Amino acid sequence: MPMLAFRLATPRVLVDLRRVSGLDRIHIGEQGVELGAKVRWRDIERDTRLAVAQPLLAEAVRHIAHYQIRNRGTVGGSLAHADPAAELPAIALTCEAHIVAVGPRGEREIPAAEFFLAPLVTALEPDELIVAMRLSAWPKARRFSFKELSRRLGDFALAGAAVFFDLDERGCMRALHVGAFGVADKPVRLLETEAALNGMRPEPAAVAEAIKLGTSGLEMRSDIHADADYRRALLETLLTRAFDEAMQRSPS
Ligand SMILES: Cc1cc2nc3c(=O)[nH]c(=O)nc-3n(C[C@H](O)[C@H](O)[C@H](O)COP(=O)(O)OP(=O)(O)OC[C@H]3O[C@@H](n4cnc5c(N)ncnc54)[C@H](O)[C@@H]3O)c2cc1C
Repeated sequence: MPMLAFRLATPRVLVDLRRVSGLDRIHIGEQGVELGAKVRWRDIERDTRLAVAQPLLAEAVRHIAHYQIRNRGTVGGSLAHADPAAELPAIALTCEAHIVAVGPRGEREIPAAEFFLAPLVTALEPDELIVAMRLSAWPKARRFSFKELSRRLGDFALAGAAVFFDLDERGCMRALHVGAFGVADKPVRLLETEAALNGMRPEPAAVAEAIKLGTSGLEMRSDIHADADYRRALLETLLTRAFDEAMQRSPS
């Protein structure tokens, strides 16, 4: 719909996937979660098991657009559309999800880090269909936070951040993942921030320094909604709040 509305696509044929069976399955197992391509935002929001099995995903989905869009938008559609400001691609990248695609040459799993190539461009071949997205199991005590800012509730985010980590017995962060969206031409991982903080205690000064390190290497997007300097400042603020919230949240 966004592509049609902006006249970016004028297809001669539209294929409706709604009656293709099996694509609306949500599977929650010990290894992780598999979301079928036709799973809608509303399905995720309403699934109380997902709030426990993938709390970061469940929280992110609540920020997507408004009620009407959340009733219709799908996992496969969002991944294939690859909007740089969309929530699900950012979650896929930050959580190292795999996108399962099927085509005439069979099935393949594409790591999210190799899937999003540019705005609205993915590694999907023209004859491939996304059938699912796979997420690894989420440890119970994992700390996380998801933050974004948009001009009005339900708008695409000007910037957003996803953070998660485990705390070891000394209170040091392990398996830290930091993602951002809305700020560049595709969702990004802040690998310098992760490298600087992994194995460290989340002290505010160290976190602030690591955030600066991560954002300084990003080529920030600039558009009519926000310029690059504003987006950089906004992302740094959101990341600071995300680390704060993740620390304060008691593990489930
Ligand atoms: C007003 C409005 C506000 C929005 N706000 C937000 C927002 O805040 N955050 C956000 O993340 N999203 C937002 N969206 C996007 C929305 O959530 C959907 O992701 C988007 O509209 C795609 O919808 P869809 O899933 O029905 O896919 P479609 O519109 O059916 O498809 C989108 C694209 O993906 C392709 N495609 C669809 N399914 C597959 C598949 N299984 N395999 C391969 N290719 C496929 C289609 O060919 C098409 O190119 C907004 C959309 C609108 C219209």
